[in-house]
Amino acid sequence: MKGGKLIVFSAPSGSGKTTIVRHLLAQEPLNLAFSVSATSRSPRGTEKNGEDYYFISIEEFKKHIKNNDFLEWEEVYRDNFYGTLHSEVNRLWEMGKNVIFDIDVVGGLRIKKKYPEKTLAVFVKPPSVDELKIRLKKRKTESEEKINMRIAKASIEMATAPQFDHIIVNDSLEKALKEAESLVSDFVEGTPNSEEE
Ligand code: 5GP
Repeated sequence: MKGGKLIVFSAPSGSGKTTIVRHLLAQEPLNLAFSVSATSRSPRGTEKNGEDYYFISIEEFKKHIKNNDFLEWEEVYRDNFYGTLHSEVNRLWEMGKNVIFDIDVVGGLRIKKKYPEKTLAVFVKPPSVDELKIRLKKRKTESEEKINMRIAKASIEMATAPQFDHIIVNDSLEKALKEAESLVSDFVEGTPNSEEE
């Protein structure tokens, strides 16, 4: 597989990684495009099919698994499947873009392992699990049960942080955005390595 670079942002849900990824996408010189994942979960709030996710049924998702259509996939929460389609990454590479991912820690590390040279893997750490709870509650998009499920997972996810290339602690959003911008800028401007298979 040839093409641009891969920029992975992984973090517990509610740590602010989506805000960081959106900010990076707006920086034209970075030449980034967002990898739209497939998911079996239902759309939330104003989410749009084909923009935030490709919303598909569990049956369709399992068919893609069977056909080896995924670069990586995870059952992130029970019965909620998420995955990156090969076709999505190829589509963006064909447009000459570097691809940015907002995915869970397991998927992020899987991509890094597959393409160690062309991937920058960044972990976004919330200041604390308590702060995470506050942020998820403020979002008001999920039930108490779903929020608790996300918090329980967050502690496990935090333990994987040292396996990433960089950790950004999101205690000040402004500082986190600057740090992310400079990390990604250095990486995309570095020597291209498009020969990795
Ligand atoms: P949410 O339901 O909040 O949109 O996402 C839940 C978690 O699944 C987040 O950590 C998100 O980054 C992750 N996720 C989204 N897309 C993918 C994907 O394609 N693969 C994996 N492994 N995780 C994903």
